[in-house]
Amino acid sequence: MKQFICTVCPRGCRLSVDEDNDYKVTGNTCPRGAVYGRNEAIDPRRTLTSTVKITGARLTRCPVRTSEAIPKKLMSEAMAEINRITVNAPVRRGNVIIPNILDTGINLIATRDME
Ligand code: SF4
Repeated sequence: MKQFICTVCPRGCRLSVDEDNDYKVTGNTCPRGAVYGRNEAIDPRRTLTSTVKITGARLTRCPVRTSEAIPKKLMSEAMAEINRITVNAPVRRGNVIIPNILDTGINLIATRDME
C-alpha cells in the first residue's frame, strides 16, 4: 500500500493506493484524486523548472521548464543535460531549448524573453 497527499486541489486528501488490487485508490474525495493516486503509484511525473546558461544577454541564466511533466525518475538526468548547455541571446518565451529531452517526446522551453 502506498500513501500520498493529493495535490490536485488545496483540500489535500490522504490517499492510499493498493498496488496488489489493481492500484485501487481510497481516501479520495473526488474522482480526480483517484486518477492522481494511480498515476503517482504507477508513473509519477513532475514539470521540471530550471535555468540554462545564456550568452549575449543582460542576465547570465535563462529560465526554462519542460512543456509537460516528465517522469520523476528522469529529473537528475534532465538536470545534468540542462547544466551542459549554453544558449545564445536573443531567446523568445516558448522557444524550444532542448527538443525531446531524454527521448521523452517533451521539449524544454524558455519561459521568458531574453534580449
Ligand atoms: S481527492 Fe479531490 S478533493 Fe481531495 S485533494 Fe484530490 S482533487 Fe481535491
